[in-house]
Amino acid sequence: MLIFKKVADLRQWLDQQTIPVGFAPTMGALHDGHLELIRMAKREGCLAVASIFINPTQFNDPKDLEKYPRTAEKDAAMLLTADCDALFIPPVEEVYPPGKDLTIELDFKQLDKVMEGEFRPGHFKGMATVVNRLLDIVRPQRLYMGQKDFQQLSIVRDMIRQLGLSVELVMCPTVRESDGLAMSSRNVRLSPEMRALAPLIHQTLQWAKTAMEKGKPAAETQTEALEKLALSGLRPEYFEIVDGTSLLNVGKSSDNDFIVACTAAFAGEVRLIDNLVLK
Ligand code: AMP
Repeated sequence: MLIFKKVADLRQWLDQQTIPVGFAPTMGALHDGHLELIRMAKREGCLAVASIFINPTQFNDPKDLEKYPRTAEKDAAMLLTADCDALFIPPVEEVYPPGKDLTIELDFKQLDKVMEGEFRPGHFKGMATVVNRLLDIVRPQRLYMGQKDFQQLSIVRDMIRQLGLSVELVMCPTVRESDGLAMSSRNVRLSPEMRALAPLIHQTLQWAKTAMEKGKPAAETQTEALEKLALSGLRPEYFEIVDGTSLLNVGKSSDNDFIVACTAAFAGEVRLIDNLVLK
């Protein structure tokens, strides 16, 4: 696996390649969920390129940025096991050259205003800016992103459409621990007590799926799910049952063809997100 820190070096190498490029942007602290993006790219016949860049512009809480785990050497070793072809791990000034404003100013309508958008102001603008910049650098044929960040994926899909970018977005299913907890770089920060509670997030999503299938209206399901999470000792921020395309709330199961439940909850000081396709 080749490791690049500079845009020019990565570009020079990419310009010599002849097979399609599959790109998986990450913020490092890698786990099996990230590796699955690389494995998927390889299975689909791509040259797999990963990036590790802790994007300062998408953190609305400076403490969260400061505490974000940094494990570059271990990450590189893990990528190697997934047969990754290249790792791009740039310093901030390579991604954001001084004096150039690369901020994306797109109107995502409700997509970036609901759920995460409500609780993490500015997060999606920063995310869209960095994904657009990285796409501009790597110019992949396929972009691999995880369902784990469902709202992020919806916004990236809309950005690709609005900017007319020629890249295919591929959604990788969420990789989970054996007890159902969605793998996340933040999980290492969970105390043993909170780690034991955290699988309840996935269990509650599954409960909501069954409840909706039995005809419970979405609003009631949401309220009861929030109660279940709060009673356990987690601190939920939202539990929303939305149309999988518009991210707007749905009424009942029979009203829509594509329904997703999305939630965010604090387990101690660690903020976790997860989602489940209900229909
Ligand atoms: P992050 O490093 O958290 O920004 O994530 C980088 C990419 O990995 C994003 O496309 C995420 O959606 C994806 N990802 C993170 N966790 C998982 C997971 N448990 N399963 C699948 N994909 C994931």
